[in-house]
Amino acid sequence: QVKRAGRHDFRFFTAAMQQRAARHLQVVNALRYALEREQMHVVYQPQVSLKTGRIVGAEALLRWSTPELGVVSPAEFIPAAEESGLIVAIGDWVLRQAVRQARGWLDAGFPPMVMAVNLSAIQFRTADLPSHVAQVLYEEGLPPEYLELELTEGVAVQDPQGAIATMNQLHDRGIRMSIDDFGTGFSSLSHLKKFKVYKLKIDQSFVRDISTDSEDKAIVSAIINMARSLGLTTIAEGVETVEQLEFLREQDCDEMQGYHFSKPLTPDAFRALLER
Ligand code: C2E
Ligand code: MG
Ligand code: MG
Ligand code: MG
Repeated sequence: QVKRAGRHDFRFFTAAMQQRAARHLQVVNALRYALEREQMHVVYQPQVSLKTGRIVGAEALLRWSTPELGVVSPAEFIPAAEESGLIVAIGDWVLRQAVRQARGWLDAGFPPMVMAVNLSAIQFRTADLPSHVAQVLYEEGLPPEYLELELTEGVAVQDPQGAIATMNQLHDRGIRMSIDDFGTGFSSLSHLKKFKVYKLKIDQSFVRDISTDSEDKAIVSAIINMARSLGLTTIAEGVETVEQLEFLREQDCDEMQGYHFSKPLTPDAFRALLER
């Protein structure tokens, strides 16, 4: 009986795996043409100061849909783009769009905002990244202090020394960096000291139950306090409720981002928000 159940499980598992592998191939193949077929666009989520209530930044988030696959979530296509190496071209396109958008908002006379762009570890490790980013900023006419690159702790796993060198070069060019999903990686605090980052983005998994879970409270509070003593800015991700907001304000968190204030918006909708 046990044996039969086991074999059945195995067959089931294999079928599921095959299905997943087929889907993965389909996604990777479609990704190759996503840009030239103009299937991708960028949405922008406001980042808000907890002190002033004003929009102080925006995070660029990539969206993709195709006639065959429908809407594919970043959680699915970003890893596929990373594995296939397509993330370098795609990420570059996002950077260009976001920098151009930031320039557009400045030109329209809106108060200065920082544009945050997610950078995958693979992009981060491309040889000429710092000069390439500087080149894009130059071509689009955006001063470097208006750009922030969101890195994950993963960038430093393989080669901490190389990561520090790249960060130093970005920093020397006036480009800001933040650590995304902070607290979920193997956050080596000794690395943090050497990283030229200016902001920690507290992962939404800690924020979710912040008003009820005392451990999450303790973690978020500890991150904010540590950041403050290191001179770093903090932003909480995934803020959905006023209770979460109140706790973060009590703890002196600097900024927040989440559905409570706004979902990611199309450029037109973001502009309408800025005009209000
Ligand atoms: P992330 O950089 O941590 O982005 C935050 C994610 O949380 C976004 O999901 C955002 O839509 C979502 N979010 C924001 N506020 C709330 C909230 O209040 N509640 C909940 N439940 N979620 C909220 P999204 O857009 O699906 O992106 C997922 C991940 O995909 C991003 O996580 C990022 O790691 C990656 N990603 C998205 N765009 C890009 C890109 O252009 N390049 C790279 N390398 N990665 C990207
Ligand atoms: Mg991010
Ligand atoms: Mg995040
Ligand atoms: Mg994430």
